[in-house]
Amino acid sequence: MEHQAIKDIVIVGGGTAGWMTAAALSSMLNGRYNIRLVESDEIGIVGVGEATIPMIQRFNRVVGIDEAQFMRETMGTFKLGVEFVNWGKLGERYMHGFGRMGQDLATVPFEQYWHKMRALGKAAPLEEYSITRMAAKAGKFMPARTDVPNSPLGDIAYAYHFDASLYAKYLRALCEARGVTRIEGKISRAIQREPDGFIEAVELEGGQRIEGELFVDCSGFRGLLIEQTLETGYEDWNHWLPADRALAVPCESVPAMTPFTRATAHKSGWQWRIPLQHRTGNGHVYCSRFISDDEATATLLSNLDGRALAEPRMIKFRTGMRKQAWNRNVVAIGLAGGFLEPIESTSIHLIQSAIARLVEFFPDRRFSETDRIEFNRQSRFEYERVRDFIILHYHLNQRTDSAYWTECANMAIPETLRQKMDLYRSRGKIVRVDNELFSEVGWLQVFEGQNMPIDGYHPLADTQSEADIADYMGSVRDVIRKCVDVMPSHEEYIAKHCAAR
Ligand code: FAD
Repeated sequence: MEHQAIKDIVIVGGGTAGWMTAAALSSMLNGRYNIRLVESDEIGIVGVGEATIPMIQRFNRVVGIDEAQFMRETMGTFKLGVEFVNWGKLGERYMHGFGRMGQDLATVPFEQYWHKMRALGKAAPLEEYSITRMAAKAGKFMPARTDVPNSPLGDIAYAYHFDASLYAKYLRALCEARGVTRIEGKISRAIQREPDGFIEAVELEGGQRIEGELFVDCSGFRGLLIEQTLETGYEDWNHWLPADRALAVPCESVPAMTPFTRATAHKSGWQWRIPLQHRTGNGHVYCSRFISDDEATATLLSNLDGRALAEPRMIKFRTGMRKQAWNRNVVAIGLAGGFLEPIESTSIHLIQSAIARLVEFFPDRRFSETDRIEFNRQSRFEYERVRDFIILHYHLNQRTDSAYWTECANMAIPETLRQKMDLYRSRGKIVRVDNELFSEVGWLQVFEGQNMPIDGYHPLADTQSEADIADYMGSVRDVIRKCVDVMPSHEEYIAKHCAAR
């Protein structure tokens, strides 16, 4: 059968999504395709995606990014997890640390032995069984060592914080060196062909026409091709995730540069704190039905580490997803495809996995309908599962101090989340369906961090004696403690390996 390869790929937009797509495609398509990226300096980028999850390391490897150079260029710091303050009850804090928790003992997962010991009043806090949580608490960091495969030091999962504008700039330089053509200009319209409505070209304000066969819409919230042209439709999840605005502001850093993101719940939203080498990024995500913009600004500014370095910038959003991420010959990636608020720093990962899916289902000129449907099914599955995890943070709260949190605790939730919560409640069981993003350990930390009650534990946890379990759990904690003792501080590690010059 004749293989009709596509030749011209046009990426619309040069934010994180556009340049990540260009970087991945220029690395993986082996120079066989003509890749052009159109962006408008006048419109600019959202530029607030600054915290990531560990899978980004895979992306950086695939596109050939050197970690130390990347950290220097983007003023990056390391991230071992997210600390949540005031989420269960006011005054409480817990961390969702990356990576594993404990070591498998026998028949059932680690947490089942922990549940058993807790029921007996003999379990240490959950965090003591996680090297990333203990290291983050101590302000320490180092990457996993490959020479000690059986030690927790060989198993340190981490991600990055970075300056989003510098990241886009860094990726742009890398892409241009690999033959991606950047076109500066504002797209005024898209031209569709008859009779199928596929996009043929986009036209710039000056009249320049850019033709292509595959269009990747990375134009941000506006969805220039996927929505404004193809009218694909948006599924709004505001009834589950009612926050609809964010105010972002950088401030002066104060020591120490913590190796974790902090998410502090306020009365009608929450505030992020992301330490970078040259400044700290902050933002207040809130629900405009419960708090005015002025109040939200005042809350943000009164909770900074140091002096604000700019005026707060407002971003309005609707949480949800495009009804089809792939429509005709347009694939929407990044904010054009959907938005889940940044509590677990998932947007950049969703860009990465959409790119991986695009590569997997890369079309020829016939654009297989079967592939497109499967691409959209997988996108939906991924979005919905991440959505459920985020809703859990809001729904599972016991705060009594504000109408916002009471509404979140009482709202109806998706059936898929209800099942997860019911399973956990009955005996601490966590089921990860297919390849959903967040693992059992992630769910465990949020369930426990926000005080989810459980009725019992797995009966097979009783097949080990209490003494054996106590012994095993004690040794896991000891080893982790000793490992953290020998780790350098986060600041020392950055100063030695990847400080900006
Ligand atoms: P944008 O950055 O908006 O880029 C759109 C591009 O399209 C721009 O280059 C623009 O010039 C171009 N464009 C648009 N219209 C036209 C036109 N007519 N002609 C030519 N060019 C055009 N993600 C995380 O992973 N971690 C986080 O911590 C995080 N925090 C966030 C906090 C907030 C409040 C928000 C709103 C988002 C956050 N995100 C986070 C998400 C992250 O910011 C985005 O996923 C990421 O920036 C990708 O944006 P984008 O490239 O899709 O869109």
